Amino acid sequence: MLIFFIILALLLFVMILLFFGVRVGKQGIYFWKKSPNFGRPIRYIIIHGTGLTSDKEALSYLRDKSKEVSCHYFIDSKGTLFQLVRDSDIAWHAGESFWGNDKSLNFTSLGIELFNPSAGNGKAYTAQQYRTLIKLLNLLINKYDIPVSNVLGHCDIAPDRKTDPGYLFDWDRLYYANVCDLSRVQKRGRCER
Ligand SMILES: [Zn+2]
Repeated sequence: MLIFFIILALLLFVMILLFFGVRVGKQGIYFWKKSPNFGRPIRYIIIHGTGLTSDKEALSYLRDKSKEVSCHYFIDSKGTLFQLVRDSDIAWHAGESFWGNDKSLNFTSLGIELFNPSAGNGKAYTAQQYRTLIKLLNLLINKYDIPVSNVLGHCDIAPDRKTDPGYLFDWDRLYYANVCDLSRVQKRGRCER
């Protein structure tokens, strides 16, 4: 019985220490006092098409350390959503890129990869993929207050290197769902090559 009370008292003591921000790590004893002032500005959403042969291959490619490529979200051919990197972290999806005066858009964007065996240049994306994508875009646009004019394709921000999400990507569908602006629909020719 005494043991029980000792354990209970110890547990309570630890909980009180944790409550007051006391932590123990490799650096010794320290205090955790969280500040809300951190993170990175999220101003863009970049849409990609994978160009790999299967959902499974795409997902493992994007999680393979040696490939040095990732994205925040991956939408497979059935429209299933996967999150690979936290929004607050920088994923490696845009590479050398620019839009207006902004450069290296990895730092200020979220990357969404959609599975497509030909990166949208030969095979259309599925209805389920658009459904998941539009729902996700709505959520992210509202959460981070991103202008719809900043929802772009990889081909927009790296025009000399990239063609994804490809000429078969249906920007009209996004426009009618209010998750991209009219210029995307009008200028989609720039992604056709
Ligand atoms: Zn891409």
